Amino acid sequence: MTFSDFHFHSNITEAIDAIGYEKPTPVQELAIPVIMQSSDLIACAQTGTGKTAAYVLPVLHGILTEEHRKDQIKALIIAPTRELAVQIDQQLEGFSYFAGVSSIAVYGGGTGTDFEVEKKALRTGAEVVVATPGRLISHINLGYVRFENLRYLILDEADRMLDMGFLPDIRKIISFLPQKRQTLLFSATMPPEIRKLAKQILHNPQEINLAVSKPAENVAQSAWFVSDENKNKLVKKIVTENDFPSILIFASTKSGTKTLENDLKRLKFNVKAIHSDLEQEQRREVLRDFKNRDVRILVATDIVSRGIDIDNIGLVINYNVPHDAEDYVHRVGRTARAEKTGQAVTFINSKELRNFKRIEQLIGYDIRKQSFTLENQETLTQRPVGEKPAKPKQHPKKGKPDQQKKQQKTEKTKQHQMQEKNELVEKQTPTVKKKYSIIKKADQPKKN
Ligand code: AMP
Repeated sequence: MTFSDFHFHSNITEAIDAIGYEKPTPVQELAIPVIMQSSDLIACAQTGTGKTAAYVLPVLHGILTEEHRKDQIKALIIAPTRELAVQIDQQLEGFSYFAGVSSIAVYGGGTGTDFEVEKKALRTGAEVVVATPGRLISHINLGYVRFENLRYLILDEADRMLDMGFLPDIRKIISFLPQKRQTLLFSATMPPEIRKLAKQILHNPQEINLAVSKPAENVAQSAWFVSDENKNKLVKKIVTENDFPSILIFASTKSGTKTLENDLKRLKFNVKAIHSDLEQEQRREVLRDFKNRDVRILVATDIVSRGIDIDNIGLVINYNVPHDAEDYVHRVGRTARAEKTGQAVTFINSKELRNFKRIEQLIGYDIRKQSFTLENQETLTQRPVGEKPAKPKQHPKKGKPDQQKKQQKTEKTKQHQMQEKNELVEKQTPTVKKKYSIIKKADQPKKN
């Protein structure tokens, strides 16, 4: 299948050519014809599959081929985070470059001036509005947002909006929209609450499912059993031994992100961190530097793991096992975007093993694991040129001799435990899942 099979408006085809997409991704092949037939749609598709273009392209085509005015809102896209809203808006700008369809991103966290700019754009009108729920409600409450010409409503990452407690806001926004509209719901997973919402707000939807909760096949996944005190050594080893120009490291907490950033700076790595304590402008700057490759390593919390469109990340490191197994898939989905290949490495300490097992259950196969300890790091490491070999059995912490002995003993016990677990897991052969198992509603087996 090629993009010409969709018979898009020539301005859109021109933009696709200019952007350089050669052929539609699976979600685009399935979703675009459904949307162009004016049907409502539930699409189960994870980020990185090309889902944004899957709805943006047919919606732009619809706007261009119907009667439209620049000052009337025709489409509303609701996204959970400002980062995702900005990213969608950027894609919209690209695709509508030749079509001249106006769009605006409306999201919280900016300055008062930003609010005024959004207000002005909403008053004078924009054909496509991309918004986070809370911020849009603030504008709606002020009374100048007019939705009577709205034709399309798109909910992107609906499950994330559920997690973030936005469902009441979404219901409220929908109460301001015309009943007669086309509604498209995209979600990485389909928890019961999202099914319920879909039933209430969609009319006779078609459904497509792109095997969610599985990392793409072109991500090489591996894991290390490693104690917390050895994690920085392992980061250093991996980052030094590989020449990936862009590396994304996920830490579980804001404070963990900051500490890791400082630790890596001390090790002379070109690193920046992004977390919710940063102002919107600072976050944008960090992301821009990372995208432009002025910064090689980005340390992040999960805020950037969903929907953020940074291409060419060769390596994702999970410094901690994510608590939520779904987050693992989203984190790992930051690499190997749109058919490229990538690597994902997860660090597992003894307390995180159970969580990691849950991830393996969710994705349906075991991930290759090895142990990293101070004793074996030399044999595992191919030393970079010029670096002195570490002294064998060197202990990371200074302390009194008896304290040292105690620490070494604990370390050995942990290593032993990890080794045992490791050997157990290594016996099982990993199975590689098919990247996309495409199920249309009609083909889905009935649940008993
Ligand atoms: P998304 O799942 O929408 O976040 O898209 C992930 C990445 O895939 C983005 O960088 C898109 O620009 C890119 N992409 C989307 N569709 C295509 C396509 N048909 N060919 C190549 N890249 C694409």
